[in-house]
Amino acid sequence: MTSSDEVVITCPVCGNNTRVYKVTKIFVESLEGNRLKETADERLDPSVSAHAGNKVSGSEAMRKLSKRFGPPTKRLVQPRGLHPDQVVLVMSFLALVLLWHIFTQQRGALLPALGVFAAAITLYAMNRKRLLAKHGEQHEEVQRDKKEIERATERWGETYYCAVDDVVFIAGSSEAVPADEMMNMLFS
Ligand SMILES: [Zn+2]
Repeated sequence: MTSSDEVVITCPVCGNNTRVYKVTKIFVESLEGNRLKETADERLDPSVSAHAGNKVSGSEAMRKLSKRFGPPTKRLVQPRGLHPDQVVLVMSFLALVLLWHIFTQQRGALLPALGVFAAAITLYAMNRKRLLAKHGEQHEEVQRDKKEIERATERWGETYYCAVDDVVFIAGSSEAVPADEMMNMLFS
């Protein structure tokens, strides 16, 4: 009996499948390894530390694995900036509060303060177009990054590791790259 999820994936380098593992599976198992370590640390007491030593170094290797085979996160999405108009709206509100205080407590300073406020608004109006264009560019960049990460994550889900050659490859592809270059392959 065979089912569709028993498809044999062979390594394009050695042509074998004996030590080929799905990268997502390695990653999940390495996370579980970390969890085991945390539990071991909590229970750590001097009488069992000799045994724990082995476990810790074992999960140290697991941690390295999870770093090596983790999902594509290298290109971090920049935090999305506020729309320039929103910023100005908040700033204007604060300025009005300030002006109100000046009006009630220091009326002599009101005119110069109004002048500063008007100058700031004018400056913004003059630069608004440029600021909006910049904001739009950033927004597009973020969208592009998101798409790239999505695509890389999909590819990651189809990536296999051959422990014989220490290479990774995407299922069905005839090309393999050294495991340490997985990120480059996912984003290529
Ligand atoms: Zn191989």
